[in-house]
Amino acid sequence: MLVVMRHNATEEQISAVVDTIEDMGYGARPIPGGQRTAVGLIGNDGGVDSARLEVLSGVLEVIPVTHAYKQVSREWKEDDTVITLPNGTVVGGSDLVLMAGPCAVEGEAAIVDIAHVLRDMGATILRGGAFKPRTSPYSFQGLGLEGLKYLARAREETGMMVVTEALDPDGADLVAEYADVIQIGARNMQNYPLLRRAGRSGKPVLLKRGMSATIEEFLLAAEYIIAEGNDEVILCERGVRSFAKHTRNLLDLAAIPVVQSLSHLPIIADPSHGTGLRSKVIPMARAAVAAGAHGLMIEVHADPPQAMSDGAQSLYPQQFAELMEQIRVIAKAIDRDLTPPLRPTVPAGS
Ligand code: PEP
Ligand code: MN
Repeated sequence: MLVVMRHNATEEQISAVVDTIEDMGYGARPIPGGQRTAVGLIGNDGGVDSARLEVLSGVLEVIPVTHAYKQVSREWKEDDTVITLPNGTVVGGSDLVLMAGPCAVEGEAAIVDIAHVLRDMGATILRGGAFKPRTSPYSFQGLGLEGLKYLARAREETGMMVVTEALDPDGADLVAEYADVIQIGARNMQNYPLLRRAGRSGKPVLLKRGMSATIEEFLLAAEYIIAEGNDEVILCERGVRSFAKHTRNLLDLAAIPVVQSLSHLPIIADPSHGTGLRSKVIPMARAAVAAGAHGLMIEVHADPPQAMSDGAQSLYPQQFAELMEQIRVIAKAIDRDLTPPLRPTVPAGS
């Protein structure tokens, strides 16, 4: 961090800045220049309260020279973070991971049945919300604990891993008991008590980008989880709000290579929530793979028109099989492969 002094700052004012920095527990190095002096702050651990320096007299501005996030950054850890789940699925390696399932868990038979179908098509992680963060309080809110039990049953029967959303800190503890990966949704990306609890859960966390979050805010939210000692964080680009109305959200595919250059954490894409439209999910899924995503999260329902939530963006199972075939080819073109299936895969059209 650099504290830039006004051109007419006095020696006393510069000394006051140095004393304040030292009082805060950091090193200070005045750098005299032709026009003005700047004071470098040394040893910034991310906890510097720059407001304390901005208010000092003679200070023109305080410029951060490193990112506010630390442990999520590539400077902190150069190699990609690779997360291995109990069923052998690896997130963050060169293989693409496929997470698929309905928006919400709607019943035991429904989730177990779709899990079998998706597992046989090559997905290795089952998604499905038991606690649903709905925009309207009158919409279906999910089956809660029952839903978690049904997901656990689907895992038992298929060997797939389970990712499901926690809405609050106590919910994170509950989800950690049943699921393999705790999902934190877009609406909760900056729910700091939830991030912290998930960070202490001992389970990997799938963190979705907030609908109006900058990349810096996204990475700082991940930093909350890592700061609690949990470095198994999977980021998920799921679209941001925009002025345009042709899709539900604007799937920010540039975020994928941008995040990969700034952070060692894996990043997947969710073109289902990113577009909100079934017909746009496959093209954007293909594009996300081409952009280098480590995986995809796709909503699939046995009978989308009857889905209790997000039917309009849910693929039919057969479409998911077609998508798998297409992305296999795209992945090859960039020297990647799909995660090996848990069972022989069912080709599209069969
Ligand atoms: C979800 O994946 O079920 C979900 C609610 O997504 P998002 O948080 O991205 O809206
Ligand atoms: Mn959904």
